[in-house]
Amino acid sequence: MAETPRQPTRSGTPPWPDEFAARYTAAGYWDGRSLGEHLYAAADLRPDTVCLVDGDVRLTFAQLMARADGAALRLRALGLRADDRVILQLANCWEFVAMTVACLRLGVVPVMALPANRRQEIAAVAAHVQAVALIVPTSTRDFDLQAMAAEIAAEQDGIAHVLVLGDKVLPGHVDVTALLAPAEDPAAARARLDATPPAGQDVALFLMTGGTTGMPKLVARTHDDFGFMARRAAEICQVGPGSVYLAALPLGHGFPMSGPGVLGTLMAGGRAVIAATPAPERAFPLIARERVTLTSLVPAIIQRWLEYRESDPDTDLSSLLAIQSGGARLPEHVTRGVEPVLGCRLQQVYGMSEGLLCLTRPDDPDEVVWHTQGRPICVDDELVLVDEDGEPAPAGAPGVLLTRGPYTPRGYYRAEGLNAHSHAGGWYRTGDIVRIRPDGNVVVEGRDKDVINRGGEKIPAEEIENVAHQLPGVRMAAAVAMPDAELGERICLYAVAHTGHQVTLDDVRNAMETVGLARFKLPERLVLVGELPVTNVGKIDKKALRSDIAQRIAAEAA
Ligand code: AMP
Repeated sequence: MAETPRQPTRSGTPPWPDEFAARYTAAGYWDGRSLGEHLYAAADLRPDTVCLVDGDVRLTFAQLMARADGAALRLRALGLRADDRVILQLANCWEFVAMTVACLRLGVVPVMALPANRRQEIAAVAAHVQAVALIVPTSTRDFDLQAMAAEIAAEQDGIAHVLVLGDKVLPGHVDVTALLAPAEDPAAARARLDATPPAGQDVALFLMTGGTTGMPKLVARTHDDFGFMARRAAEICQVGPGSVYLAALPLGHGFPMSGPGVLGTLMAGGRAVIAATPAPERAFPLIARERVTLTSLVPAIIQRWLEYRESDPDTDLSSLLAIQSGGARLPEHVTRGVEPVLGCRLQQVYGMSEGLLCLTRPDDPDEVVWHTQGRPICVDDELVLVDEDGEPAPAGAPGVLLTRGPYTPRGYYRAEGLNAHSHAGGWYRTGDIVRIRPDGNVVVEGRDKDVINRGGEKIPAEEIENVAHQLPGVRMAAAVAMPDAELGERICLYAVAHTGHQVTLDDVRNAMETVGLARFKLPERLVLVGELPVTNVGKIDKKALRSDIAQRIAAEAA
């Protein structure tokens, strides 16, 4: 099969119109400098300060940059060039950060994947971005990602390399540990890479977000937009050279990378500590040892931290100034618990891979921190609320949030049909139903998108339904969120079986695993019914199903 010529990354995403680009540049949000240049600016001020910690590994700024530059030049020697796309699917570790910086220095564009992603998702994304390399660990828990990557690479002509982190790198694959050895002559390596930095408006990386057919949607974030967001978030969070950020959520998510996350912290001259998991048993001793000042979590994990603190009241968490909560709505009783139980401020975060970031501020009164998800980080973030017909919602009333601004790209990557709806007129339609208070703070009240938010991981219902419909026994299927004390929501599948057929939860889960979808997308309950309720326009009535499952769960608990 003839290979399709590789397209420039920029050509796949609708650009910000010139007048907006000019405005954002004039305002100083976009400064035309790559993330690598910004990282070096921070590193040059304190080359010998430790900036990245993972277990026993402690890298200074100079060491991190020497390793990243070494890897960048070795990637170049392998044939990778600026604007090539790679899939970066590593668990949380210092190598994840160093490989990201290597890509940013060379101008190679990483797609930030999750260790939980499986064959269908990675293969679809790799084909969509015309990836030239896959970067994976040897294995995660019970799954061999190296074997998966090898299979995908064998099927896709354009994938020239599988890069592997771990101790059982198969012949023919590239060893990431060796790749990340420091450049032999760091100054010379730096000079070579400095000669051709990516432009500010070049795509720096891709974030992945749920798609409906096993094909995640991709958000192309530029050096200008992503860097601005991370730096502005760091400023608002008062992150500076004395700050220690604990990265405990999967680094493939934008939140721990840029809200301010690892990148915002490093650019501000602070230190990032990498945790393999956010479990309090592991995180608390790390906070004490590394004197962590800030971390970001999802509500389900915050609840676990609060509960765990009762059994472990003595680990020294006194360095912690704030915990950010984002990805899903934090129940109000939890918001109030953070400060008394963990001894630090709560910061609510409402953000999305697609751009917009709202934060409560460190000096906001409790009332704002408890009851709102904060306000946009930039005065040029524009927020508009519309009703079901797309008409402006009355002042003060909730509506579906549309947004645009200096770090909210104008569309998904190579998705013209989708963008006509998701980014009509240049406004990103969040699908979130929010209220904007007179003080400018946003309150997320619900959503009008058919997505299940399982502890911060978003799963489009249609993705589950598509697989369920392929089972011979299934006549109709509808996935909905069921309330869950731990994760906020879990996935429940309603199904109507064909007469004479049996369908079990295992059938559905096995089918999804066989197709190659991430485990967090598998439904955790199946309800077989004779008919699915429909609305008066004939659509499946998901509202009725959500209330049905909530009632069933309440009745079982009673
Ligand atoms: P993602 O792109 O995976 O980060 O998901 C973004 C979506 O997560 C948003 O559009 C919201 O639906 C949801 N979300 C993020 N933060 C919050 C929050 N603080 N409260 C409620 N929903 C949130």
